[in-house]
Amino acid sequence: MKTSGTAIVVKHTGSHYLLSELPAWEPFAAVIRGKVRLAGSHATNPVAVGDRVDYHLESDDPEGMAVIDRIHPRSNYIIRRSVNLSRESHIIAANLDRVFLVVTIAFPEVKRAFVDRFLVTCEAYRIPVTLVVNKTDIRTEALEAETADFVALYRAAGYEVLEVSARTGEGVGALREHCRGAVSLISGISGVGKSSLINAMDPSLSLRTGEISLSHLQGKHTTTFYEMHPLASGGFIIDTPGIRGFGLVDIQPEELSTYFPEMLRVMDDCRFKPCTHTHEPGCAVKQAVDEGRIAPERYNSYLGMLEEETKYR
Ligand code: GDP
Ligand code: ZN
Repeated sequence: MKTSGTAIVVKHTGSHYLLSELPAWEPFAAVIRGKVRLAGSHATNPVAVGDRVDYHLESDDPEGMAVIDRIHPRSNYIIRRSVNLSRESHIIAANLDRVFLVVTIAFPEVKRAFVDRFLVTCEAYRIPVTLVVNKTDIRTEALEAETADFVALYRAAGYEVLEVSARTGEGVGALREHCRGAVSLISGISGVGKSSLINAMDPSLSLRTGEISLSHLQGKHTTTFYEMHPLASGGFIIDTPGIRGFGLVDIQPEELSTYFPEMLRVMDDCRFKPCTHTHEPGCAVKQAVDEGRIAPERYNSYLGMLEEETKYR
């Protein structure tokens, strides 16, 4: 048996971690002793799912637990504030190849402000994000029109949008293809069908669905634990149960517009630099909004976020 090595954190249970050397799936338990905090990180959790770590085995440990010695630098990570407006933050997952944001147009209705905020977070951390519109089997005329609007809005902004149904299997093959050979995170508010989609991609995982929201457990003193699952068709997916949203951590107001791909494309032509795209004359972003090349919904989201970020600073 190897006495040391490098592996990926696939689960955090509270008392210990599970590690596996991907792409093999042979999880084993590990603990942290003393200080192994990544330099510069102030997160409440020193090690997150997706982290690559060095470990060693101690031959005299009766439980045979591995010991985590070092965390490798992260290529990216997703973080959220532990409590609203608190300065503490919690790393949800690290080293992601892609994030899937699952949304539903109705049942439940996912708010655009939430979607935009989420997308900004992914952009800030340079993680490719795909929007997944689930429950397309629920069909009414109004819903179909709203779905078409949503899809058009985000495709125009530059995002990939998939339409799927965990119930009928529509689009699930495309989702599976996307997951192959990558570590992805699936997120979205409770009830949109994250667990159902994971199960549709790989029924052998049989995640529990329709659970009561975990949000009541997300108080001040509890932590939600995230977990990576191996997909039979290839790839690994990290589930984020009960998530309510990510805070905008460490985003400067003047860089916010760079996290809106459609603004980033035109802002080079703004007369003033930096430009907040609010009141400045000769602003290329405002002109693009006026000319219908940038959706007013997205621009208003930007203004809302800008105001909030400025207020709490
Ligand atoms: P999660 O909280 O995001 O993990 O959502 P779940 O997977 O637990 O699903 C929430 C509810 O939506 C359950 O009652 C599912 O049966 C239902 N659901 C999930 N996907 C679909 C879908 O594609 N179509 C329909 N009609 N219902 C779905
Ligand atoms: Zn501007």
